[in-house]
Amino acid sequence: MDKKPLKDHREISKLDSRGLRDHREIGQELELFFTNEIAPGAPFWLPKGMVIFKELEKYIRELTQNAGYLETSTPIMVKSQLFRDSGHWEKFGEHNMYNLEILDEPEGMGLSKNMALMYTLKPMNCPESTILYRFRPRSYRELPLRLSEIGRLHRREKSGEVNGLLRVRQLTMDDAHIYATEDQIFDEVSSILDMMIEFYKSFGFEYDFRLATRPEMRAGSDKNWDRAEKELKEALEKKGIKSGDKLGDGAFYGPKIDVHIKDSQGREWQLATVQLDFHQPEAFKLEYIDETGSKKRPVMIHRAIFGSFERFIAILTEHFQGAFPTWLSPVQVVIIPISEKNNEYAKKVADTLIHESIRVEVDGRGETMQSKIRDANLQKVPYMLIVGGREEEAQKVSIRKRGGEDLGQMTLEDFSGTIEKDIESKT
Ligand SMILES: [Zn+2]
Repeated sequence: MDKKPLKDHREISKLDSRGLRDHREIGQELELFFTNEIAPGAPFWLPKGMVIFKELEKYIRELTQNAGYLETSTPIMVKSQLFRDSGHWEKFGEHNMYNLEILDEPEGMGLSKNMALMYTLKPMNCPESTILYRFRPRSYRELPLRLSEIGRLHRREKSGEVNGLLRVRQLTMDDAHIYATEDQIFDEVSSILDMMIEFYKSFGFEYDFRLATRPEMRAGSDKNWDRAEKELKEALEKKGIKSGDKLGDGAFYGPKIDVHIKDSQGREWQLATVQLDFHQPEAFKLEYIDETGSKKRPVMIHRAIFGSFERFIAILTEHFQGAFPTWLSPVQVVIIPISEKNNEYAKKVADTLIHESIRVEVDGRGETMQSKIRDANLQKVPYMLIVGGREEEAQKVSIRKRGGEDLGQMTLEDFSGTIEKDIESKT
């Protein structure tokens, strides 16, 4: 593990003065993730960090599947021509992408020789999503077609701007693209806003919405921009959501609604986004056949609920200062046998809980009970089960919560009910 960047960062951390710690420190101490100079801007995930990553993935999959999304996956490395066609090469900037020259493949798709040799590590999923859409002719009956993708992206951030997990060069996005008719825009945007609200509430974040309007550097006609901005404004207004304006801060292909959240330290982060796009359907000639049999152009809606897993986990780590809610905690229960005589009973209790998909560790070290409790607290484990002779005789466990609250003795069955309720509530 590379400890050096940790020290450098501590000097610039503003959290220190309030006794709060930065996600890199917490990430190393709780063995969640770290960065190493061998891969600047790309985190290494340790097993405990991966638990958090996978739980988030599970949650977002649940939300999207329930909302009628279909999951897809597209290649990480594609011919650069795709980003020329989409407008990203020029507007997002080729210098912000990783472009590779592949020498042993001189032919391709009738492209100019130079472009056929150039490949790009995708910085976003959108242009490839349009290839999925064009896989076959589409009918109005299929719309809205909601295609989600948990895609790994690469962005060429300057080395001075790379910052732990907050700003990375390799990121994983909870992305989706919705292809819809113009009449469907309002309902689609509304249900995305609902999904965002549900998601952010479950973490206890305060949130507010901002409408980001047309930037100076943009693609598409003013008529399309007028219409798109109006649609988003109406979706916000009809939901009774008060929103601020971010003038000129839209994407180059369309306006967006950004969601800002406030964490437990009162800091503001921009996370979620819904973007309306008339440009890319045009650039990629997307079509559907309407009720009368004629060809129409769909609208494309881009949306992410929390943006990047890396950045969101960094924010969560600092927001909770490592004391994650039970559903996200890498270890949910530590079992502490009072003496070695109780190790066997501790193991039996652990097996029962593991069988119920609860993440359990047994602390069978020869340390005192007090020091085991202290260590479990330092590891921010939500529940400690203390088992000694008395517990074993009564076939019960003594329960302490993180932070010191004593729940007394319970049967294992009652405890399972308590923790399962806690996990389900996501609070
Ligand atoms: Zn997109």
